[in-house]
Order: sequence, then structure tokens, then C-alpha cells
Amino acid sequence: MSENYDAIVIGTGQAGPALAVRLGKAGRRTAIIERKLVGGTCVNNGCIPTKTLIASARAAHVARRSADFGVVIDAPIRIDMARVKARKDAIVAQSNAGVTNWLKGTPNVTLIEGHARFDGPQSVRVNDTVLEAQEIFINVGGRANVPDMPGIDDVPYLTNSSMMGVDFLPEHLIVIGGSYIGLEFAQMYRRFGSRVTVVEMAPRLIAREDEEVSSAIKAILEAEGIAIRLNAECLTAARRGNGVAVTLSCEQEPREIVGSHLLLAIGRVPNTHDLGLDKAGIRTDARGFIEVDDQLRTNVPGIWALGDVNGRGAFTHTSYNDYEIVAANLLDGDARRVSDRITTYALFVDPPLGRVGMTEREVRASGKKALVGKLMMARVGRARERSETQGFMQVLVDAESKRILGAALLGTEGDEAVHCILDVMAAGAPYMALQRTMHIHPTVSELIPTLLGDLKPLD
Ligand SMILES: Cc1cc2nc3c(=O)[nH]c(=O)nc-3n(C[C@H](O)[C@H](O)[C@H](O)COP(=O)(O)OP(=O)(O)OC[C@H]3O[C@@H](n4cnc5c(N)ncnc54)[C@H](O)[C@@H]3O)c2cc1C
Repeated sequence: MSENYDAIVIGTGQAGPALAVRLGKAGRRTAIIERKLVGGTCVNNGCIPTKTLIASARAAHVARRSADFGVVIDAPIRIDMARVKARKDAIVAQSNAGVTNWLKGTPNVTLIEGHARFDGPQSVRVNDTVLEAQEIFINVGGRANVPDMPGIDDVPYLTNSSMMGVDFLPEHLIVIGGSYIGLEFAQMYRRFGSRVTVVEMAPRLIAREDEEVSSAIKAILEAEGIAIRLNAECLTAARRGNGVAVTLSCEQEPREIVGSHLLLAIGRVPNTHDLGLDKAGIRTDARGFIEVDDQLRTNVPGIWALGDVNGRGAFTHTSYNDYEIVAANLLDGDARRVSDRITTYALFVDPPLGRVGMTEREVRASGKKALVGKLMMARVGRARERSETQGFMQVLVDAESKRILGAALLGTEGDEAVHCILDVMAAGAPYMALQRTMHIHPTVSELIPTLLGDLKPLD
């Protein structure tokens, strides 16, 4: 059987649904195909559920610290993991239903369940049907990387997806991977009450960040009782009774740790192995990411790749921005490009890290003459009032153009406050525009003009 459409969207991640709706509203008959859960990673086993669980974990943390605020809880607090999961499930279900209903309720859009595979450059096979269209948009995302480490096939392990089914408290959770996803789960489960060990192969956590950021986050996590094993270069896994043993070739002892559960958080791989890309002649790079140009076109005319699968971003906001770029080019005659956007993201440990633009290491490597400002969160009124004074804020400025190059805000509200820096960068304004702006007291953002008023040369 074959069906004709004007456009086909493969995958319902963070770009596909918005694009399908936009195309449908523009009068183009559009099929959107999903093999599993509508809404993709962010909605079902990424951002939304993890941030919902983090909110429960934070409630537990604040309850344990209640005496610091003069609030007396007479009995030890207790976490009901089944209720924690039920709350998460309800919030996820709401989002999943929202996207599903949005797609189903839009004229000209047909939501099809099944696994899509290219049959040719203008045709996609789903179940027993071949769909044809002149324009095809790939938004298939990625999945957890399962490393080729000795013993991994002999032990039970969890990934971000299977973690979503956990409604009990692991006695001792070993997290392999000390980066964004691993650290969020590590702190969350520690706050729920598990023993947690983070195992990282590199000499420091989140190696993409500046060293000072890595070590501050390590100290924050260790202060909550999370064990961190760095330099774990030779990892192996084996069963130990009902649990899992992970051997490490670390400088630190012990060389083997035994936990009740193992979570793999070692990066993501694109879902391109089972998409029949060769049938359409679509090029990927060595790691399987689809190659795209600055407007997200693949090497095959009429085929675009959006979201994590193109390797140009790994976030919900980059995927959604991909949709905006494609829609602007295709429907609005507006030549928006990926290279127009400024890198920005957050790590949602508590306190969070808000990041924008270049790191200090990148600025140094660029050879630019730069100015730097740093302020400890302990000086921020909002942080002191909340008794949450961990972390610091750092901003880097181009000494010649006076434009802001980048910032790292590690501290309470850092994920929100970073947007005032991002917006000034996007406006192309010099840092003085922000330095001279009156901000609201008492907020974290109010200290950013102060920080910019005390810049020193980056030596
Ligand atoms: C634990 C975790 C936490 C995260 N937290 C954040 C966060 O806080 N903030 C943030 O910005 N980002 C976060 N991310 C990243 C974010 O989830 C992704 O960047 C975002 O979902 C964009 O993904 P996407 O649009 O590329 O596709 P995805 O959301 O991955 O969706 C792709 C969809 O395509 C479907 N699919 C795949 N192959 C086929 C096929 N052949 N046929 C049909 N359908 C197919 C999949 O089933 C899936 O539903 C997190 C990720 C994880 C794993």
C-alpha cells in the first residue's frame, strides 16, 4: 500500500511536532511517524520526568534542612518512592497527551504509529505502508550509549529510560558517567536516600566545563555524601550476589565497588542505525550523526535533519530552535541559520549551573584579549537569605569589542539569571548595557551588573 503526502516527519521529538503542525497549518498534508512514545525523550524519559523527580528530591533535601530555617520537623522524613514516581508519571502523561492531542487535532496532520525506514529519497516505509513525499524531516533523536565494557552484558543495568520505571529506593546506586545526566540522577537518588557512587573515567567531572566549575560541583555533591571516583580508566562489571560490582583502575581505593544497582550515563548515540539512511543516500559522520548544513539540510535535496540526530545540539531548546530555523527558511522566506545561535544550557544539579557562550578555557584557546569578573554566591543577598551560598558566577568579556564572550553561573537561580547575559549577547550590545541596567532587589540577577563593574584582565 502507498500513500502520498506533501511532507513526512519522522519522530515526535522536540522539533517534529511543532514542524508538522506548522506545515499542516500552511496547508501541507503532513504525516508524522512515531515508533514509541509521542513527545520523545524530553517528554517521556528526559527533561520533564527528571526535573519532576529533581523537584521531589529537592523537597526532601529542604525538609532535612528545615531546622536551618527554624522549621521543626519532629520525626525523620520518609520518601514514598511509589508516590514520587506517580507524581512524575502524572506530569509526563499530561505532556504526552498534550502533544498527541495537538497533533491529532491539527488539520492536514496525520499521526502514524510505527517504525519508519527510508525506502528511497522520497519514500518511507512504516509497517506495511510506503509513504511518499517531496519533503522529509528527520527528528529521531538518540538513546543512551551502552559502552562496550567487559561484563556489561552479564549484569542488569539501568539507563535514563529504564530509570523512569523505578518506584523503589536502590540501596546503593552506582552511576557510571560523571556528566550532565549522571550527576542529575546521582544527586536526586542521594536525596531520596540511596547511597550513591559516581564513577567517571576522566580526571574530573563534566570535563567540558572549566576546571573550577568541575571542582565546585564535585565539592557540592560530596558534601551531600555522594562518593566520586575519578580516573576510572579500566571499567569492568560483574554480578555480586543480587548486586553489581564495578572494578575501577583508579588511583583511589577501593579498586572495586559493589552496588545494588547500576546506571549507565555515558553519553547518547543517534537513532540512525535502523533508519535505512543508505536507501536514501543520506550521509552520516563517523559517530552516526546525520550531516547537515547551516540550514539543517542533509546532503540529499528535500531531506532535513533536526534535533539531537544532527549532532549540532543535544538539548530540547536546540531541537526546537532547529524547527524554527527550518520553518523560517521553508515557510517565511527568512534565512535563519544554526550558526546564528548562542550556545546555552544548564546542568540541573542543585544549585544549578547556567551556562552561555565560551568557557574560560575556550577564551584562552582563542587568543582573544579578555576581561573576567568573578563573584562568590556567598556575596549574593538572595543566596544568603535562602542559606544557599554554594557556587560562584563568572563572566568573560572581549577586551576590545566589549561584548560578553561567555558566562558560568553556578548557584541558586543560576539557570534563570544566565538569561540576562544571554539576551545582551544576542542583542550584540556591549557589556556596559547590562552593567548600567537597574535590576530588581533582592535577586541573583541584581549582582550581575555589580560583577561586570569589577572586571580584570584575564592573565
Ligand atoms: C535524562 C535526560 C535529561 C535531559 N534533560 C534535559 C534538560 O533538562 N534540558 C534540555 O534541554 N535537554 C535535556 N535532555 C536532552 C533532550 O531530551 C533532547 O535534546 C530533546 O529531547 C531533543 O530531542 P530530539 O528532538 O532530537 O528527539 P527525541 O526527543 O529524542 O525524540 C525522537 C523521537 O523519534 C522516535 N524515533 C526514533 N527513530 C524512529 C523511527 N525510525 N521511526 C519512528 N520514530 C522514531 C523516538 O521514539 C522518539 O520519540 C535530556 C536528555 C536526557 C536523556
